[in-house]
Amino acid sequence: MIINIGERKIKINCEVLSHIYDKRQVNISDYESGGMLIGSIIRGTKDIIIEDLTLPIKDDKCSRLNYVRSKKHNELLEQKWIDSQFTKMYFGEWHTHPQEDPFPSQRDIRNWKNLMKKSNTETKILLFIIAGIDIYKIWIGDRERMEIYQVFRGDYNGIIKIS
Ligand SMILES: [Zn+2]
Repeated sequence: MIINIGERKIKINCEVLSHIYDKRQVNISDYESGGMLIGSIIRGTKDIIIEDLTLPIKDDKCSRLNYVRSKKHNELLEQKWIDSQFTKMYFGEWHTHPQEDPFPSQRDIRNWKNLMKKSNTETKILLFIIAGIDIYKIWIGDRERMEIYQVFRGDYNGIIKIS
């Protein structure tokens, strides 16, 4: 999928969305999942492609209503940075919610603002995805203005299931 924001295009690869789709909290007992969004800037443009992500790992703290990723994700990111010859970088976060149409909690907003301030990445914006059961939404965090705004709300039509 492609989102147009002013003169900037943000492309999110199908495979990334499929992985997120796969982790939706469809069952009452499913825990929240999450991870990093990883992408690159297309050379000579402001366009961004989100082409990779990290998936939940054993050391993360997951519960029905919370997800805290472990430091291990930073190591995974570092490896992807090296393997891609320093083009793939941190671009934000995704996580699931046990809501049909998800909205961010106060804690989500706090976490996102923290990441916007502290993330050691070259990009001026970060992306945040919350995957609800029927709907997923995407927000942009503008790191210069310290503003967060929603840029996409949609269903999972056209997303191919992995498992
Ligand atoms: Zn949340």
